Parts: sequence; structure tokens; C-alpha cells
Amino acid sequence: KAKSNGRNGFEFFSADMRIRAQARMQLLKDLRSAIDLHQFELFYQPIVALNDLHIHKAEGLIRWHHPVNGLVSPDSFIPLAEETRQINVLGQFVFAQAIQTLTEIKAASGQQFQISVNVSPVQLSTADSGIDDWCDMLAAAQLPASSIVAEITEGLMVNPEALTQSRLKRLVQSGMELALDDFGTGYSSLAYLQEMDTDYLKIDKRFVDNIKADSQELALCEAIIVMAHQLGLKVIAEGIETPLQMELLLKAGCDYGQGYLFAKPMPKKEFMTLLSSNKVVISNNK
Ligand code: C2E
Ligand code: MG
Ligand code: MG
Ligand code: MG
Repeated sequence: KAKSNGRNGFEFFSADMRIRAQARMQLLKDLRSAIDLHQFELFYQPIVALNDLHIHKAEGLIRWHHPVNGLVSPDSFIPLAEETRQINVLGQFVFAQAIQTLTEIKAASGQQFQISVNVSPVQLSTADSGIDDWCDMLAAAQLPASSIVAEITEGLMVNPEALTQSRLKRLVQSGMELALDDFGTGYSSLAYLQEMDTDYLKIDKRFVDNIKADSQELALCEAIIVMAHQLGLKVIAEGIETPLQMELLLKAGCDYGQGYLFAKPMPKKEFMTLLSSNKVVISNNK
């Protein structure tokens, strides 16, 4: 409980902090029932090959349709779900959705597609998170393990627990691909990148944002791309919003791009329609 001695103007909790703490508690409570109430939906954002702009794969991004607050950003509820371990249930929901969508794409086009899913460090370090069922789930759906790219963050690479490490190894050995998300925002050991057999490196949006010709940011991206290629990784640039960013990244040798320039994350139905047209329309209203 907040306690204050008004005369000195000292308060442990400001009114603002109290409101935020209450909102957080409410969100935590709502999160518990959100899965059962079918309030989550997996959106899909295309990842395109920069040289021909064809859709190469898609990233699955979770959306929460909150009955009162509307669409809640994953940046605000994923940390809560991690704290309470509900991320494990959510992660299984995401994975099941991805399999369902891959199955529908295969049925509609006869083609193999690839979806990347974000995997929380909590899922990897929790014994019964369900991750160990992933290969069986894919096999049961008659999908190759390479249909899934697991996106993990740099934090995981710093000092991974034995369980995390062995699970990642097993997923990779089964054929699942691995992407290092948000590259450049933390610290990763290059040796570990290589040891883990990482397939993709995703350059964080904050680098892409400030790319201009002859800029330091461009030089940094070029260096990252050269390094990644030397380690045998493909590079995906996140958050491409302008044709100039796309041009410069393509020239720098970047393999894939993802961003509002190509398409925003969208519901499954919309994505299936876009995919069947087999082309990306670059929006010119930027
Ligand atoms: P992330 O994995 O780095 O995903 C990329 C984020 O950048 C997404 O935000 C995407 O909508 C956004 N983005 C893509 N292109 C652009 C662009 O051109 N401009 C701008 N302004 N933004 C762009 P989103 O969907 O809000 O997700 C935020 C983060 O939440 C994700 O970052 C990821 O860390 C986490 N997240 C999302 N879905 C899941 C999930 O299913 N499981 C877990 N564990 N985390 C998730
Ligand atoms: Mg991601
Ligand atoms: Mg990212
Ligand atoms: Mg991010």
C-alpha cells in the first residue's frame, strides 16, 4: 500500500505508478482467461527476397484482441506472460497455429512454405513447456521440420542453461531452422552463433531506420552482412519502411527484408490471398 508523508512531499508510490500497477494487475488477470476466450490471433508478416521481392517466408506475430483495451501490443503482454509462465501455453498456441497455416498453404498451393515463430527464453528453459513435442507435431501434420524457423533473441546466446542449449541443438538437428532476432541490440558470442548452427540473422529495425547513403548505420549493416555471410548465415533486415532503405540493403548484399514497405502483419485469410497472388505490392503511399 502506498504510504506518504505529505509534508515532506515524499511518496513511495505516485498516483501515476499506482494506476500503472493496477492496469498491470488487471492485464495479468485478463491474460489468464484470454486463451480460453479465443482472444489471441496469429498474424503473418511476409519476408521477401530482396532481389526479386517474392514472398519467401512469413513471421508469425501474436495479437491479443482485448475486450476492453482493443488490440494490445505483444511488447506489453509478452513480458507479463513470461513472468507468469503463461508464455508456455501461448507458445503452444502459436506453434499449433503455424502448423495449421502451413497445412492450409500446402493444400492450397501444393508447395512447402516456411513460417518463423518467436520463441521465448522461458519456453526453452521450462521443462514442460511443450517444445519437446514440436517435432512430433510437425511429423503428425506431415510437414518437414524445416517448415519452421525458431526466432530466438541474443540474450539467449550469452549464457544459455544446459537445458536450453540441448533443446536448441535437438531442434536444429531435427531440421528446424534458427534465426537470431533483433541482432545488434544485445551481446552475442559469434562462436556460439556458429556452434548453434544459426541459419538467419535478423538486423534490428533500429539500424535499418537510420540507413542513408554513406551513413555510419549503412556501414554497420554492411559489416554485419559480410560477417554473417562469412559465418554461413543469411540476413533478414527488419522494419524496412522506405524504397531507399531497401535499395541500400540490397546493394549491401542483404538477402531478405521484412517491413511496412512490403506489408504489415495481417490476419491469416489476408495473408493466404496475398500469397496466392505470389507477388508483393510495394506500397507507394509512404
Ligand atoms: P520481433 O520478433 O522483432 O518482431 C518484429 C516487430 O516489428 C513486430 O512487432 C512487427 O509488427 C514490427 N515491424 C515489422 N516491420 C515493421 C516496420 O516496417 N515498421 C514498424 N514500425 N514496425 C515493424 P509486433 O508484432 O508488435 O511484435 C513485437 C515483439 O513482440 C516481437 O518483436 C517479438 O519479440 C514479440 N512477439 C510477437 N509475437 C510473439 C510470439 O508469438 N511469441 C513471443 N515469445 N514473442 C512474440
Ligand atoms: Mg521476431
Ligand atoms: Mg526482431
Ligand atoms: Mg523486436
